[in-house]
Amino acid sequence: MLLRLQAGLQDPQLESILALCKDLGLTTSFLEGRRDLVQVDGPADPRILVRLEGHPLVRNVIDRGDVRWQVDADPDRAETVVTAGHARFGGGWVSIAAGPCAVEDEARMTAIARDVKERGATLLRGGAYKPRTSPYAFQGLGEVGLEILARVKADVGIGIVTEVMDTRDVDKVAAVADMVQVGARNMANYPLLRELAKCGRPVMLKRGFGATVSEFLGAAEYLLEGGNPNVVLCERGVRGFDSVTRDMLDVGAIAHLETATHLPVIGDPSHAAGRADLVPNLARAALAAGADGLMVEVHDAPEEARSDAGQALSMARFGALVERSRALAELLGKRVAVCPSSSEDNADRIGMEFA
Ligand code: PEP
Ligand code: MN
Repeated sequence: MLLRLQAGLQDPQLESILALCKDLGLTTSFLEGRRDLVQVDGPADPRILVRLEGHPLVRNVIDRGDVRWQVDADPDRAETVVTAGHARFGGGWVSIAAGPCAVEDEARMTAIARDVKERGATLLRGGAYKPRTSPYAFQGLGEVGLEILARVKADVGIGIVTEVMDTRDVDKVAAVADMVQVGARNMANYPLLRELAKCGRPVMLKRGFGATVSEFLGAAEYLLEGGNPNVVLCERGVRGFDSVTRDMLDVGAIAHLETATHLPVIGDPSHAAGRADLVPNLARAALAAGADGLMVEVHDAPEEARSDAGQALSMARFGALVERSRALAELLGKRVAVCPSSSEDNADRIGMEFA
């Protein structure tokens, strides 16, 4: 590691930082002729890096040396492929999660599930617990919503991705979900991430709309460090200055993450745009930037959706989006995962995979 110290430090201050390094099991040597550049060698432990980075006498760490985060891309290991039901994300696989913003009622959810599966989704999305900006807005059906999701999964044979907001609900949600979603508002809810690290399910971690890429990766690191290697990162748009779209899909972040981490990265054009008409083009932009999948909001009657109605795609438009995603994926040398068509067969396999 190479540290740059604050300028003009006095001898006792230099000695204190050298003593700390020694206590941490590190050897130190000043770069020739410099009192502010220290080469530090020893264990490649991120805890030591964090300790030194936060030290008041250290201006910055110029070179992390061999210290790696678990999320970091590693030339010596393959990309992580995350599997949930019949969905596969990463390693050349693209998967599409689709469904309404919220679970509304069972008949509707079943019909939507059949339809999105038929048109090429491998995961059904839909929140039972909804993080709403207004406490007066529809908050989701809670446990009833989870029960609906469990029956729809068994009936239709499609895996489920659904959000958990509260540590107290992790077990209940993980019992139903093939993939547990952490919403943008909870990306930095570290107690929740710690629970999800032990939940036994893959996690779809959405980027906070005010979070930097480095904070996003830090949140993912909580999951990996806590023992859950199955993490899919989801870019869902960050706050911009223009209200023409709800948020701004950060395709630069998708391109960057594809090189910076071995974890799969997907795009959510629905929450980024907030407008159904822009979703197909933004979905293509996400895939073109390197995304390993998409999550889109789809509704059988968008105008009746109880939340995020303006951004929900109709079934026909969703079908067209899948077709185009397949063509684009092929062009990019990737494959879009599909559900086998027999629902009984599929339900069995989903049950077996997560038995
Ligand atoms: C959602 O997926 O419905 C949702 C609430 O998304 P986000 O957390 O990205 O706002
Ligand atoms: Mn939504």
